[in-house]
Amino acid sequence: MQILGYVDRENGFVLMKKLPFFKPLDSIIIVLILVVSVWSLTFFTREKGFQAEIFIKAKLVSRLSLNGDEKKFILPSKKGDIHVLYGEGEIRILHAPCKHKICVKHGAISNTREKIICAPSGLLIQITGTGSLNKDSLDAITF
Ligand SMILES: [Zn+2]
Repeated sequence: MQILGYVDRENGFVLMKKLPFFKPLDSIIIVLILVVSVWSLTFFTREKGFQAEIFIKAKLVSRLSLNGDEKKFILPSKKGDIHVLYGEGEIRILHAPCKHKICVKHGAISNTREKIICAPSGLLIQITGTGSLNKDSLDAITF
């Protein structure tokens, strides 16, 4: 049997013997458990956002409410117009002047902290705000 610790009568401390806790395999398992738990936490705490923020080159250019009917928003960029469709709780890029259209293929986003990035246009769309847009929540938001 392994001695885990003993009471040091003089100092009153329980001294723990150094345990070979973190063998390489153990630490891999611990990391895996951590990753899975963090992932499941973010997965299950997904919340619908009600607002999308649009950034061009890290500068906030527009803040759109996702409540209400679908609307189209045209964002001029140096390379051409970016067409954004938003409303009914979602936002997506319909058309962008970039080559690979990764942002268009990304589809719609609706959960907070979700992002659509179009690197060639320097565009970032991210969902913020939870719950529904009403007077109370508007008052509570500090920008
Ligand atoms: Zn793009």
